[in-house]
This record gives sequence, structure tokens and C-alpha cells, in this order.
Amino acid sequence: MMQSIESEESYVGNLYQRFPVSIAKGKGCIVWDTKGREYLDCMGGYGVALVGHCNDRVVQAIIDQAQNLITCHMSVYNEVRLQFLKKFNNIVSKNLQSSFFTNSGTESVEAALKFSRKFTGKRGILALNGGYHGKTFGSLSVTYNEKYRKSFLPLLQDVRFISYSEVETISEIVSHSESNIGTIIVEPIQGETGIIMPPPNFLKSVREVCTAKGLVLIFDEIQSGLGRTGKMWAGQHWDVEPDIMCLAKGIAGGVPMGIAAMRPEILDSLKVGEHSSTFAGNPLACAAGSAAIDALIEDGLVSNSEKIGKIFKDGLIELKEKYKIIRDVRGLGMMLGVELRFDVKDILLDGIKNGILLLYSGRNILRLLPPLVMNEEEVNKSLHLIEILIQNEEKRRFG
Ligand SMILES: *Cc1c(COP(=O)(O)O)cnc(C)c1O
Repeated sequence: MMQSIESEESYVGNLYQRFPVSIAKGKGCIVWDTKGREYLDCMGGYGVALVGHCNDRVVQAIIDQAQNLITCHMSVYNEVRLQFLKKFNNIVSKNLQSSFFTNSGTESVEAALKFSRKFTGKRGILALNGGYHGKTFGSLSVTYNEKYRKSFLPLLQDVRFISYSEVETISEIVSHSESNIGTIIVEPIQGETGIIMPPPNFLKSVREVCTAKGLVLIFDEIQSGLGRTGKMWAGQHWDVEPDIMCLAKGIAGGVPMGIAAMRPEILDSLKVGEHSSTFAGNPLACAAGSAAIDALIEDGLVSNSEKIGKIFKDGLIELKEKYKIIRDVRGLGMMLGVELRFDVKDILLDGIKNGILLLYSGRNILRLLPPLVMNEEEVNKSLHLIEILIQNEEKRRFG
């Protein structure tokens, strides 16, 4: 195993915070390393393993499609793509029935930003302090973290970051801004920054301002969407709908695919050739995507996310009451955060020794994005392992 790790390092540079484990196989919430050691996967591939690793429906759909057609450009028609779009439109709002296919999260955001600029004719964008939208130039421009941005300036001009507490003044900011604001981009729940929930009236107020002033509201549901938070869309917790919704991560059961779903008049404002992607609407991804949606609906994964997520969160809150190094537990469904008083690096490494994969947010937050197929037994096992990791950390800190 060490050999494969060192060898891969020599090819891919040093761009990722990496864990010393080489994963060879996965099923549901479990992954196995090259030596056959088992891990409970609460990292869930950053949320990509939404419907579980190697979900049976997804595997079968990929096998079947691979035998028929693997590539098919958008300049010709394809029934597998149409079938996916019909299924997809059944799970999104009736207002967001036009879709642009992409291949990743950042591309969905790039598309949304371009389309909104075209539709509104305005170049100014409001984004949120703490927001994360990807790392290509456009989406990096609306990503808050200085660490990601500073070496790549200048980015898009006319982006202004606001805090949640400025919600009362958004209307004034929009009216007075010289940068001619046409777009507001928001994660309904901030993922990368540490599972940050918006204040109760925030999204509703933003929606009202956008509606009143004719601005395009973009929801980045790349991490929070598709049942992750116990509802199909995180915006539904506050009863708020965007004008464009960005998706990627788990939408095709692990196969790369993204979508920007929007009000038809926004997409209709673009002319032929003004945006495109060679891989867009790939039939293999569409077949896998249809299977992933079937899994969400027919296997009841959204309600499982709500039910199991609550058991998980309650268990974490119990741990918080027992162990003083835990400062906060938050999140909804299977999008949970555990904020510690210290750096979580040793806990993550200890997790690998103890058979559980966890994710971090910033330095001191554990982020849990397990597959939505997790059952109660696996939640209890995860909680048990996390308790051991917390105990070990307390021993390291306090002896
Ligand atoms: C992961 C993520 C992105 C970026 O997606 P990539 O596929 O890595 O480009 C954007 N926004 C949010 C909220 C994300 O979680």
C-alpha cells in the first residue's frame, strides 16, 4: 500500500490534503483498502457517494449503457439523456425546468454566473462571507476564502462579499452599488466552511430582494442538494426557491456530472454557441444519473437521510455533552459538522487506524457527509468509533 501511495505522489504534485490510505473497493457506506481493511465511510467522497458506493442500480445502469453508447455530443439527440432530464425535472421545482449539463461543480457555477450576466445584463455579484463555489476563475471569484484566492488576483471584478448580518441592508447595497448588481449567489447551508446554517430569515429575505429588484438568485446546492439534508433541496427547509440551482457531486452516483437548472427564460437569453461543453449530457453519466434518482426516490433515501441524520446528530450532541473538546454540533440530515476546540488532523489520522474515514472543514471542524443509504447500525458504529477518537484526542491533549 505504501508503495502505491508514494508512487502516486510522484505524479500528481501536492495539491490535495491527503490521507495515508489507498482505497480499492466500496459498497454502500463501507470502503476497503488494498489490504482488505474495512472503513466506515463518513467522508463519502466529499458527498459524491450520495446513494452509496457502487449502488446496485447505478452499477447495472453503467454496465448496460457501456455496452450501447459511451459518448454522444449535445449536437445530436439521445434518448438516455432525455429520460434523465424527465426524471430530473420530476424532482426539481416546476420553475427550474431548463438545464445546462456540466461535468463538475465549478462548471455548474461558471455556467450560472455567465447565464445570469447575460440574462440581467449586469456584471455585479453579491456572494457570502464563508461561501465556497469552486476554484476555476469565475467560481473562485465568488469563493470567500483568502487562502484560495490570493495567488490568482485579479479575479472577476464587481464581486462584493456580505455577511449574514447584512441581510437587512442588501436592498440598499443593491440600489447604491456602483457595480450594478444582477446576481446573488448563496449556499443554502455552507459546506466547505464548516456546515454553517444561515440565520432563520436570511434566505427568505434574500429571495424577496431578488424578486423585488429583478436579480437572479443562484443556489449552490452542489453539496446540500439531492436529499443530503433530509429534504430534496436544502432551500426547502426555508421554503425558498432560487432562479438557478447548481448541482454536481452525487448527482450521477459517482460518475462526473453537473447541472445548472434554471428558469427557462434565463437559458433562453443565450444564443447558440454562447456556452457549451464537449462532455455535456454524456449518456454514461445520464444513465448513472437516472439510476441515482431512482435510488433516491424508490429506495426512500431522502427520508432515510432525515431519519438517520437525526439519530446521528442526537448521538453527536450526546458526545458533546460528555467531552469538553467538542464545542458545537450542527447541520441537517446527513450533512453534519462537529466543531472542536482544537485542530482535527490527529483525529482524522486516528480514524484511519480505527476504521472510519472522516472529513474536515477548516482546521477544527469534523464534517460528516456519509452516503444516504447508511442504516441505524452503521450510525451507531460510527458514533462508537468517533467517541473512541474523541477519547484518544482528550488523552493526547490532557494526558
Ligand atoms: C464541491 C463544491 C463545489 C465545487 O465542485 P467541484 O466539482 O469540486 O468543482 C462548489 N460548491 C459547493 C457548495 C461544493 O460543495
